Amino acid sequence: VLDANCFEWINKMSKSFIDGVWVEGGSGRNYSIKDPYDHSTITTVELANLEQIKDAYNKAKSAQKEWAKSTPEQRREVLMKALDYLEKNSENILELITRETGGTLLKAQVEFGFGLSDIKDAINMVDEIYSPKDYSSVTPGKINRVYRLPLGVITSITPFNFPFNMATRTIFPAIALGNSVVHKPDLQVGIVGGQVFAKAFEEAGLPAGVFNSILTDLQESEDEFLLNPNSSFISFTGSTGVGKHIAKVTGGTFKQMALELGGNNPLVVLGDADVEQAVKIAIFGKFLHSGQICAITNRIIVQNDIYDEFVSKFVEKVKGLTVGDPKDPNTVIGPVINEKQADKIMGLVNKAKEDGLKIALEGQRTGNVISPFVFVNVPNYSSLATSEIFGPVAQIIRAESDEEAIRFANDTEYGLSSSIVTSDLEKGERLALKIESGTTHVNDIPQVLEGNVPFGGIKQSGIGRFGYEWVVAEFTTTKWVSIQKD
Ligand code: NAD
Repeated sequence: VLDANCFEWINKMSKSFIDGVWVEGGSGRNYSIKDPYDHSTITTVELANLEQIKDAYNKAKSAQKEWAKSTPEQRREVLMKALDYLEKNSENILELITRETGGTLLKAQVEFGFGLSDIKDAINMVDEIYSPKDYSSVTPGKINRVYRLPLGVITSITPFNFPFNMATRTIFPAIALGNSVVHKPDLQVGIVGGQVFAKAFEEAGLPAGVFNSILTDLQESEDEFLLNPNSSFISFTGSTGVGKHIAKVTGGTFKQMALELGGNNPLVVLGDADVEQAVKIAIFGKFLHSGQICAITNRIIVQNDIYDEFVSKFVEKVKGLTVGDPKDPNTVIGPVINEKQADKIMGLVNKAKEDGLKIALEGQRTGNVISPFVFVNVPNYSSLATSEIFGPVAQIIRAESDEEAIRFANDTEYGLSSSIVTSDLEKGERLALKIESGTTHVNDIPQVLEGNVPFGGIKQSGIGRFGYEWVVAEFTTTKWVSIQKD
């Protein structure tokens, strides 16, 4: 429960953090961050103006020059202190994640856990810069030495759904590798998605300007975050639509970028699958955080032989899910982030009904809470099947054969994640390679995150990868130095 002390702590973070200072909002406008379930105000933040955003980039640029000279020990110490601050405030942060995102406590715990683990990985990255590696040369007497150097100022833009974790996976490696950061969290989750890190770095003694976090509704910033010349890399996590906008407006600037975008992730249930196991995976894979996860199961594709059994067991289980207040520990499905998102989801549902799609379980909307819908016999080409739903609406697609199931899985413009359920693990692994997505999980949900393996999409799901060695490569630049000895 957010008590008076916690509100006081939150209110201290209700401004943008630029060059080590909590600055008054230059726009003169405020924004109230509200609980998506009961619409109560959590805090009211002051919004920055364009000049302040430009100032953040200028300060980040000069701060980075000094930060790049810091020793690995200095970087490690400051990051450890920031981690310590976040761990000490875990109760408040878990509460804030649930209140700002409308998620359950379980979702907050998962997210916080992933976030801390990202930070620990980042702390290990401090030695990765200026540690040259030698390569052979075709010229006798020549030494080829390759250094990894910081990139400079990294722009970080994150979405509403997993705000703490989407920020940790960018901000901490960037700083560990000697870069500075201008971060823009989604305003609806601005404290836990941005300002809480500013507070942690302030407490940890990170030099001013190395981390800046801006609260803005983008009304007056135009495309400053995308075009500011001081930034050499954009790390964006969000929708494919905004990703395309970024690619378009930055065309010709030669800015490097990682775009972690939307998905239309298939869960393929093969004919030999254990139906009970498949239903369990399908439910967790579909309804965690009310369906608002990039790698969530968007389509459940089931082979004909077990289709009817799967549908009846799935619908029975879904009927038993508790829906409503995310603060109730029994709740599985809480609200979606806002009214606009709920409208969008209901729009997809209504269109599917108009298209004559068959409903096996009819949900309903109360405020921002949508109780689960289950559509069955959904054609893979329908507008429901081709949309990223981002809500508690399940759709089950019948495939005549395992081969057809894989064909359906690939018949999408997206390629983020996917899953296969089978009792034949060899076949599962073989078919995993046939699915066009950045990750495929055999006998698990598609929304798995681990720090030491690459996570990211292909096709319209983006470019770039998270995961230790991939982030090190993305957030640094290489410098080849050759030395001719004789
Ligand atoms: P969104 O694209 O609407 O917004 C993402 C962020 O971009 C927000 O902070 C937003 O304010 C900001 N933004 C939008 N236009 C901008 C501009 N011109 N300049 C600077 N910033 C700008 O996405 P959302 O609705 O918050 O999140 C949901 C989407 O994110 C889904 O499509 C989901 O699949 C995707 N997502 C992807 C991943 C991944 O790792 N691939 C992870 C989480 C979410």
